[in-house]
Amino acid sequence: MSNENLKNIVILGGGTAGWMAANLLQKKWRHLGINITVVESPDIGIIGVGEGSTPLLKDFFDSLDISESEWMPKCNATYKNGISFNNWSTVAGYEAYFHPFPCSLDFATFGLLYKYSALRRKGVDVLAHPNRFSLMSNLTQKKLAPIPSENFPFHFQYGYHFDSVLIGKFLRDRAKADGVAHIEATVEHVEQSLNGDIKLLKLNNGEEIAGDFFVDCSGFASILLQKTLKIPFVSFGENLFNDSAVAIPTELEPNIPSETISTALSNGWAWKIPLTNRYGNGYVYSSHYLSKEAAETELRSHLGILDRDVEARHLKMRVGRTEESWSKNCLAVGLSQGFIEPLEATALQFVYSTVDEFAKALEEGSFTNQYREEFNNRMNRNFEGIRDYIVLHYKTNSRTDSQYWVDNRENNNLSNNLKEMLKCWYGIEDIEAALSRLNIGNYYSQRSWACLLAGVGVFPRQENLSAADAESAKMAEADLDYVDKFITGCSMNFEPHERKLAVKSPNS
Ligand SMILES: Cc1cc2nc3c(=O)[nH]c(=O)nc-3n(C[C@H](O)[C@H](O)[C@H](O)COP(=O)(O)OP(=O)(O)OC[C@H]3O[C@@H](n4cnc5c(N)ncnc54)[C@H](O)[C@@H]3O)c2cc1C
Repeated sequence: MSNENLKNIVILGGGTAGWMAANLLQKKWRHLGINITVVESPDIGIIGVGEGSTPLLKDFFDSLDISESEWMPKCNATYKNGISFNNWSTVAGYEAYFHPFPCSLDFATFGLLYKYSALRRKGVDVLAHPNRFSLMSNLTQKKLAPIPSENFPFHFQYGYHFDSVLIGKFLRDRAKADGVAHIEATVEHVEQSLNGDIKLLKLNNGEEIAGDFFVDCSGFASILLQKTLKIPFVSFGENLFNDSAVAIPTELEPNIPSETISTALSNGWAWKIPLTNRYGNGYVYSSHYLSKEAAETELRSHLGILDRDVEARHLKMRVGRTEESWSKNCLAVGLSQGFIEPLEATALQFVYSTVDEFAKALEEGSFTNQYREEFNNRMNRNFEGIRDYIVLHYKTNSRTDSQYWVDNRENNNLSNNLKEMLKCWYGIEDIEAALSRLNIGNYYSQRSWACLLAGVGVFPRQENLSAADAESAKMAEADLDYVDKFITGCSMNFEPHERKLAVKSPNS
């Protein structure tokens, strides 16, 4: 494997994506003599939101040998067991559900959720709410951290909540200590070679920064991939309507929760994310249905702070992906590559997987672009796999309080895969088999699809009970008794979230 044509990598952008990419590439390729430089404008800020993660952020820190005790306190970070979805459904008993991260004990209870949600779809009156079958949901209700005691040898996946500005600073300091060069200046012009490759960046301090390869982490501006290399943007606007957000912090309450809460409001949804020193809150909405002013007022009212003078930040979002993530000698990472709205907090997992898979593709192709097309196709499938699951939240809503929710429910601009999955659910077919036939089970598993579809109470009533179904339904009480005992017993091996964080929340 020879990297003789790759000696200097220039990363444009010092947001979370830029510094995550810098740390990863430095760790992977420092021994090959590859120099990494980050160019960051002191005048153009970072987006500065994005406070929740999936379990892949743990993999990211583990891959850099950075322990939780090192980074979490510096970023006011907390643990995240999953996300509660409140008021997305109006079906009695199904107004809220929890989407848990996976744990190695799910096998003991989730089989029964699949069984009873299938019976429920046939019209049998059995309990099929996912929260009852999920250990992570139980831990979350009790405000427990997802880390078991040492004598409970099972594996739990979990994510984090963190201050996005502090995590950027932490990663910047770490990368610089590891040898990454940092230039604070604004790019004014990008020069290309005759073959179209990017040659150098001209900065507003007069410097010219040449590179063999460029990583575009310039945020929604996408200065290298979209503006310079003219790679088109594929909008997801026809099935994800939200294009705006407004964010307002609030004070922490006693007993820090170990979950994100997503509450549906009149024209979008509000996030509530606990850090160790405050809550991050925001309202993600569609500007076609709601004005900026009305969104801010509705968020303030939802938070109970109509009379308080706390500054709100308004943001615009461009939802979709670039046609290619890697073109010529440039890879886009982060918002410049694409963005799916933050409902399942997938952006940073995408940053990690993009850089990781790019590095593998480059190494496997002996530092040539041999696997570029394959890589780009994989990235596009990743975006679409995640998008479909996000669209499902909107498609299955049962709210009638605004045209926004009606339009979302009636929107039939769905991918074929999503149509197939809905057909499978309504046809009472096996979800696992459908995911494997469509080859999309690695984005969201059967557990996630069942939690969402059963969680919002989408149960077509067919009333064609067979004798075997009626017999299975009789088992429900005993099964639920087993599930309750199992989950309650397991939950005794976990500590309160706050104790695990070693912080004291106000008034606790
Ligand atoms: C409302 C909202 C909520 C979100 N919530 C989540 C979440 O819960 N979880 C999650 O994982 N993600 C979330 N995200 C996404 C997340 O914020 C981003 O993916 C993440 O912050 C990475 O951003 P970035 O580094 O790509 O871009 P930015 O933070 O915008 O950084 C861009 C960088 O480029 C630099 N730059 C730009 N132009 C120039 C120039 N001409 N010269 C030099 N430098 C330049 C800037 O100075 C800056 O350093 C959310 C996003 C939004 C909009």
